Amino acid sequence: MSFIAEPVARLIEEFNKLPGIGPKSAQRLTYYLLRSPDEEAKALAQAILTLKEKIKLCSICFNTTDCDPCLICQDKERDRSKICVVEKPSDILPLERTGKYNGVYHVLHGTISPAKGIGPEELKVKELLSRLQGSSVTEVIVATNPNVESETMALYLQRIITPLGIRITRLARGLPFGAELEYADDLTLGQALQARQEF
Ligand SMILES: [Zn+2]
Repeated sequence: MSFIAEPVARLIEEFNKLPGIGPKSAQRLTYYLLRSPDEEAKALAQAILTLKEKIKLCSICFNTTDCDPCLICQDKERDRSKICVVEKPSDILPLERTGKYNGVYHVLHGTISPAKGIGPEELKVKELLSRLQGSSVTEVIVATNPNVESETMALYLQRIITPLGIRITRLARGLPFGAELEYADDLTLGQALQARQEF
């Protein structure tokens, strides 16, 4: 892209790294910003910077938050006897949208992947165990994504949590295999959550 001005090429390249943004969309976004008023571009840049500065992980559940504990962990109305385990902070949103869950969460920040060299030590598994030990938690709901790697994760959690005498359930099938929670529709996900079952 040597015929394109360097700052333009650079922004196209950055947009192109984002999920779901191909080279064409990256170009479209870049030229859109080039045409738009200065304030609009600055507001976008500022929002990105603030996101990285202000957002940290909740010290209890490891959700992304700008206050610690996060709003969910702070909420007195939440049922602390249930912990729903998810892979990513963005998996909490669709589960909350179902309106069918009033427990708290635990974010693993990934899933076991021998291919990528990711084991339980790289994830917030230790933290989950220390949350469970000596707690009043009676149920752990495993809401990992329905795919092969996440299946390994789910079975691993079952193996380590069952000896603690805590009920461990998982989302019911109904979610298409290979799908991502983040993109599931509210109805399918709500039903899967309600019909959660023993391993
Ligand atoms: Zn939290």
